Amino acid sequence: MSVSTAEFVVNKVENSRINEVDLANVQFGKNYSDHMLVAYYEDGAWKQPEIMPYNNLSLSPATTFMHYGQAIFEGIKAYKDPNGNPLIFRPYDNWKRMNRSAHRMAMPDVPMEIFVEGIKTLVQLDRDWIPTGEDTSLYIRPFMFAVDEFIGVRPAEKFMFIIITSPAGPYYNKPVSIFVQDQYVRAFPGGIGYTKAAGNYGMSMYPTMKIKEKGYDQILWTDGFEHKYVQEIGTMNVFFVIGDKVITPDINQDTILAGVTRDSVITLLQEKGVVVEERNISINEIQDAHHAGMLKEAFGTGTAASIAPIYALTYHDDKMELPPLEKWDVANWLKKELSDIRYGRKEDTHNWIVRP
Ligand SMILES: *Cc1c(COP(=O)(O)O)cnc(C)c1O
Repeated sequence: MSVSTAEFVVNKVENSRINEVDLANVQFGKNYSDHMLVAYYEDGAWKQPEIMPYNNLSLSPATTFMHYGQAIFEGIKAYKDPNGNPLIFRPYDNWKRMNRSAHRMAMPDVPMEIFVEGIKTLVQLDRDWIPTGEDTSLYIRPFMFAVDEFIGVRPAEKFMFIIITSPAGPYYNKPVSIFVQDQYVRAFPGGIGYTKAAGNYGMSMYPTMKIKEKGYDQILWTDGFEHKYVQEIGTMNVFFVIGDKVITPDINQDTILAGVTRDSVITLLQEKGVVVEERNISINEIQDAHHAGMLKEAFGTGTAASIAPIYALTYHDDKMELPPLEKWDVANWLKKELSDIRYGRKEDTHNWIVRP
């Protein structure tokens, strides 16, 4: 069946695959919903996007992104409110960030009408794929990559933008153990650390594999010059509660991804009257605070994981264990507050919720 709406051509599946998925026990990133959006950019313009059944792509082996990595992505979640109606969390912020990444990677801007309206249309179409359990959601993955068939190195001229969606359970289901990395580097001023470019993740696989072999879950990266100031974790921004202050690395050096969850957390804390400091924070300051008994909480924030408590932070031979989770006022409050807003259980006073 082919229906042309204002912006999209919609080809619906003949038969939904939804019965193949156990939505009550869904994991993260294993299943993909019935439909996807595909848009081509060519001759300086986006063509009419098409929503079609989720399917494999067919690409030339000379497709440029496979060789030179002009590829970027985003991550957003949709939830169901208590009445079963879908809501999407802050998609306009992801749209803006997608275009900051696109700009740095010499890729075209994705118009709001394709990015946000595309997400809304897909969520509406595949709304039955949104699980309803606590900590579950429909994870939305927009991405763009260069598709010139040309193996010379030059900025590409043709691009593909795709959105797929995936019913998702919790990303981490227990507190994480973090290794403070001061040998390998994630980002440098002038580099691409502030973008969601594929290369930022490709380069992290080897160091991550190495620390996983030693039993850690994730890396906390330090700065590229002195290997001293903490930056962020894999796919999460990082917060420390020291005494009664909350401290998070500032994002002004273009080395850290400006998380939408990070921004939401800072906003909620400040509204509650908590002091949040966005500044450089060295690993030595964290060690000193821990040894003085002042390091109360440490957690990562991201769309995939929401709030991920850290139970241990290891720097060289200093394994800093955090107090038991029951005593954490800040992270536990934030997790509940954020969930209540995302699942539509609490009034959205910030215009964060978008309904498809
Ligand atoms: C996606 C991501 C985050 C978290 O961003 P959100 O918008 O909160 O999901 C943080 N750091 C990195 C490196 C990321 O890729």
